[in-house]
Amino acid sequence: MILFFISSSSSIPKPPLPGSNTITKWKGNKNKNDPSSGLAPSSSPSSEEQKLVDDRPAPGSAAPVEAPTSNFTMGAIPATGKMNATFVTLARNSDLWDIADSIRQVEDRFNRNYHYDWVFLNDKEFDENFKKVTTALVSGTTHYSTIPKEHWSFPDFIDQDKAKKVREDMAERKIIYGDSVSYRHMCRFESGFFFRQPVMQNYEWYWRVEPSVKLYCDVGFDPFRVMAENKKKYSFVISLYEYAETIPTIWDSAKKFMKQHPEHIAEGNSMKWLSDDDGESYNHCHFWSNFEVGNLNWLRSDAYIKFFETLDQDGGFFYERWGDAPVHSIAAGLLLKKEEIQFFDDIAYWHVPFTHCPTSEQKRLENKCACNPKDNFDWKGYSCTTRWFDMMGMEKPEGY
Ligand code: GDP
Ligand code: MN
Repeated sequence: MILFFISSSSSIPKPPLPGSNTITKWKGNKNKNDPSSGLAPSSSPSSEEQKLVDDRPAPGSAAPVEAPTSNFTMGAIPATGKMNATFVTLARNSDLWDIADSIRQVEDRFNRNYHYDWVFLNDKEFDENFKKVTTALVSGTTHYSTIPKEHWSFPDFIDQDKAKKVREDMAERKIIYGDSVSYRHMCRFESGFFFRQPVMQNYEWYWRVEPSVKLYCDVGFDPFRVMAENKKKYSFVISLYEYAETIPTIWDSAKKFMKQHPEHIAEGNSMKWLSDDDGESYNHCHFWSNFEVGNLNWLRSDAYIKFFETLDQDGGFFYERWGDAPVHSIAAGLLLKKEEIQFFDDIAYWHVPFTHCPTSEQKRLENKCACNPKDNFDWKGYSCTTRWFDMMGMEKPEGY
């Protein structure tokens, strides 16, 4: 069972002000002349955008790519064409062929028609081969960035002996990734830092992609635009119960935050989905964060940063094994109105070991889906999506 975990740190640099209109040059992608793109009119690049594309390095040149630039105003929705958005992948050089698989999935089902950028983040420098292969596969501009040490190390307030004992104990109890230091850095980074990397600053929207994932249906719409036009900030395709041993005290930290920062708790939030007793305890429901389409300005907001800092200071990324999935989920559940969270039924997805496959046969046929509906996790016992439907008053399939 693959679930997620996290931890925390001290001196966190303040993010730039959200909404600080960064207006720079848009760097599009190559395939603008791709006759197979079949773009809906509302998704075609405008002629203005077309003029600005095509200054990306030729595949294979693997030249270092500068920070992205865009002609977007933060918060504005362009009338047509692309949104100010990027794919983002955290990976090691050794993940190359697994991420190559994922990129093909995403390109074939979606991005060949849109050519969104793709940001790759790594705690070590990406090698030339990684850059060459991924740049050849991505139809938008690629960017490669090395994560600064402060975002991938133990905060100085962490007691190393205590953290080590926890890892030894979790190894003995056979808790998945329980003995791993790098996994903890990864979870803390995804919780608190990916959206603050300089390369991410000019974007407003992100779609997270992990190695070895699958997309089973054509995505014939722009999820970034759907999010923006419907005032969504966060989204999911699979939700489930977290492995309790990895997060014994995460809810204590969340409650501390709620007490200290009532001003950041949204009215009409998803507490009912997170808790069965009005917030007294956590039911362990979380959105599976290996897939995410979300708003970066929300993550960079004072509310989210304060939430992350409160959790980080409590040390649970290292004294337990908090995943970025429960951290993002609890934050989304408390800081956002429930209507700001989107369930993307149309995005059929697999990350070992779970599948989201649309329940509607019509939808599967129309979108050329290749998933077996029997594998759909939505209505299975360990899924929290049923509860999401209940809270939202959304209609569940008959006799699910
Ligand atoms: P799981 O899905 O919880 O089993 O965890 P993964 O092994 O898929 O890791 C989650 C994400 O973090 C993936 O995108 C990995 O490529 C990435 N990742 C995990 N560990 C490291 C690491 O040590 N360094 C880097 N650069 N990326 C990592
Ligand atoms: Mn994974």
